[in-house]
Amino acid sequence: MKIHDISMLIEPEMMVYKDADIKKPIFDVIGNHQTGSAHETNVTLNIHTGTHIDMPLHMIKDGKTLDTFDIRRMITPCKVFDLTYLEKNVITADDIKDLPIQKDDFILFKTRNSFYDKSQGFDYDFVYLDESGAKLLKNIGNQWCRDRYARY
Ligand SMILES: [Zn+2]
Repeated sequence: MKIHDISMLIEPEMMVYKDADIKKPIFDVIGNHQTGSAHETNVTLNIHTGTHIDMPLHMIKDGKTLDTFDIRRMITPCKVFDLTYLEKNVITADDIKDLPIQKDDFILFKTRNSFYDKSQGFDYDFVYLDESGAKLLKNIGNQWCRDRYARY
């Protein structure tokens, strides 16, 4: 089996949500060989930085938190659907209703977000899944959307 790591590189000047300085990772070297200690770095990082998952608590009061999630679920066969042809910035139920998505599939939508020039700063026109698309996935039985969009 071929394994793809889709994690973004975490670095100080990486693109973060709305270019907010408070969301940029901070690397603080607290020890190094010049001072006679081992090299150590502290990292301050907003958990919505780079490649990440949003837990239900992010949007739902009293929603599930990361400690309830088995991270091994993130290493799994996956269906990737190429939606780079979409010119609008929203993925709706109509856009995905005919895709071969089955209950408990782990899915990724490839969008034009992947080709955005990060040197241009935050892309306020980024592509996202709207409520109708989330509801459709929830109704199919996609576990992630069933948890995250339980309120619908
Ligand atoms: Zn997030």
